[in-house]
Amino acid sequence: RATLGVMGGGQLGRMFVHAAQRLGYFTAVLDPDAKSPAGLVSHHHIQSDYSDPAGLAQLADLCQAITTEFENVPSQALQKLAQTRPVAPGATVVGIAQNRIEEKAHFAACADISGVTCAPYAVIETPAQLQAALEGRTDLMPGILKTARMGYDGKGQIRVKTTSELAAAWAELGGVACVLEKMLPLTAECSVLVARGWDGQVVSFAPQSNVHVEGILAVTHAYEGNMPPALATNARDAAVAIAQHLGYVGVLCVEFFVVDDGSTHGGLVVNEMAPRPHNSGHYTLDACDASQFDMQVHAMAGLPLPKPRQHSPAIMLNLLGDVWFDASGQLQEPNWQAVLSLPGTHLHLYGKSEARVGRKMGHLTITGPDIASVKTVARRAAELLRLPGLDTI
Ligand code: ATP
Ligand code: MG
Ligand code: MG
Repeated sequence: RATLGVMGGGQLGRMFVHAAQRLGYFTAVLDPDAKSPAGLVSHHHIQSDYSDPAGLAQLADLCQAITTEFENVPSQALQKLAQTRPVAPGATVVGIAQNRIEEKAHFAACADISGVTCAPYAVIETPAQLQAALEGRTDLMPGILKTARMGYDGKGQIRVKTTSELAAAWAELGGVACVLEKMLPLTAECSVLVARGWDGQVVSFAPQSNVHVEGILAVTHAYEGNMPPALATNARDAAVAIAQHLGYVGVLCVEFFVVDDGSTHGGLVVNEMAPRPHNSGHYTLDACDASQFDMQVHAMAGLPLPKPRQHSPAIMLNLLGDVWFDASGQLQEPNWQAVLSLPGTHLHLYGKSEARVGRKMGHLTITGPDIASVKTVARRAAELLRLPGLDTI
C-alpha cells in the first residue's frame, strides 16, 4: 500500500488521515507535537520541526505524495519535498496564501476573470508607508489593520476607527508587514471549496454561508437558499477562476464578504484564501457523498475527482474550548447525552488534550430531511451548548 503524507498534525490533518485510511492508504504526519490530533491516528508520525531537513527527508522517503493542512508550513520545506515527491498544493501557491500582500496582488491579477475584487486597502510595511496612510488614506476608515503573515481566527488584527489610532495599532502588531483594509458593511459572508487535480480537472462545492463571532467561525449554513442563487453562482465561478489562475492542485477554500450594492447578484468581495480544506467545509463530511478531505486525497494521489453531491441540508456549529467551561468557569464535559439524543447530530471531536477558551475542539454538524428540521435541531443544540450565533440560525 502507498503512503500519503501531510505537513501539520492539527484537526484538518486528522480528518485527512481518516479519509486517506478509508481508501486503504497508509499515512504519515509531520508535526513537532508528540500529541498532535493527526499524529495520534496516523500510521507514521514524524515528530519534527517543519523545516528540519532530517524530518523532511524521512517524510519524503515514506510517501508517494505530500499535502499540507497548516497554512504556515514554510514554503521552502514544501519546495524541498517537491524535489523528490509530488507536493499538492505547491510551495509557490502556499507562499501566496501565507502573505496577505501577495494574496491580494493575486486577487487583483485575476479580477478580470474572477469578476471580484478585494476590499480597498493599503500596504503598510515601512514607517513611510504608515505616514502616507496616516495622511492620505482617510478613505480606508474605519479600517482593520491585519498582519500580512501568520494571522488566523481574527488574531493579528486591530480595528481602527480613525487614522489617529493607526500608529499605535501598527506598533502593537510589532511594526511588521501589514495591510490596512477598509471595514466593509457586511450583509453576509460565504466561502467556496474548490478541488483541482494534476490534470486540471476542477470540481467545487456549493457555497456555504458563514457566521463569525469575534473573528472566529461560529456557524456554517449549507443548504439550498442559504444565499441568493445568482450570488452563489458568482461566488463559485470566482473561486474556480482564482484556483485556475494559480494553477492550483489540491483543495482551496476562498472566503468572500457580501456587501449590499443594490443588486441581487453582485456585492461579492473576495476576503482571503486557505490552501487546504477549511473549517467552513466540515459539513461535507456528513452532508455530501464526497467530503473536502476525500477531495484532498483524490487530488494529491492523482485519482479522479468525483463531482460532489450534497444529499442533506446541513448546519455546522463550531465547538470552541469555551463549551467545556460552566458558568462559574469550572472545567466540565459538555452534556453530550442531551445533544446526541437530538436527531441528525454528528459530533466530531478532535482529540485535543486540553480545552482552552477560543481553541477549536470539535464541531457538530446537523443534517436532516429538510431545512426547517435542521434549523430546529441546530437551535436546540446551540442552546444546550450555549453557543454563539444562535440568533442567526
Ligand atoms: P481565518 O481564521 O478565517 O483565516 P483571519 O484571522 O485570517 O481568519 P479574516 O478572514 O481576515 O481573519 O477576518 C476575520 C473576520 O473579521 C472576517 O471573517 C470578517 O467577519 C471580519 N472582517 C475582516 N476583514 C473585514 C473587513 N474588511 N470588513 C468587515 N469585516 C471584516
Ligand atoms: Mg485567514
Ligand atoms: Mg478568514
